[in-house]
Amino acid sequence: MVRTSTVPEPLDAATSVRMSRQPRSSTKPELALRRELHRRGLRFRVNHPGLPGRPDLAFTRAKVAVFVDGCFWHRCPQHGTMPRNNRDWWQAKLDRNVARDRAKDAALAERGWVVLHVWEHEATDAAADRVQAEWRRRVTPIGR
Ligand SMILES: [Zn+2]
Repeated sequence: MVRTSTVPEPLDAATSVRMSRQPRSSTKPELALRRELHRRGLRFRVNHPGLPGRPDLAFTRAKVAVFVDGCFWHRCPQHGTMPRNNRDWWQAKLDRNVARDRAKDAALAERGWVVLHVWEHEATDAAADRVQAEWRRRVTPIGR
C-alpha cells in the first residue's frame, strides 16, 4: 500500500512533516465525506476487499466506487508538489501511484463500476453532491 512505503533518507523538513501527517487508514476528508453521505441516508461499504483497489467507498447496488485522493500522493494539479530531495525517486514513486490509480479505474470499469475520485481539498458538501448525483443516476430506472 502506498501510504506505508519506506522512504529513503534524508528528507527535507517539509517532506518529513508531510510524511508524519500522512495517516495510514482513513483520512480526515474521507471521514467527513462518509459522515455527510451517511447523514444523507446513503449506505456504502468501506474499503470493500472484493473490489480492485479496495475503494474507499463502494455503493454495491449502484456500482459506484469512490476514492478520496490525497493531493500530494495522487498529484493534485492544484496542490501536488515534488520534494526537492530524492527528486527522481519521488517522481518515479508518484508516477507509479497515478498509474496505479488509472489501472484500478480500468479494472473497476471492466466490472461495470463507475469510479469517482474526490480530492482531499474538495469541500465535503460539493464532493457529497457529486457522489450522490452519480449514485442517483445509477439507481434510477431509465424513463423516470
Ligand atoms: Zn488538491
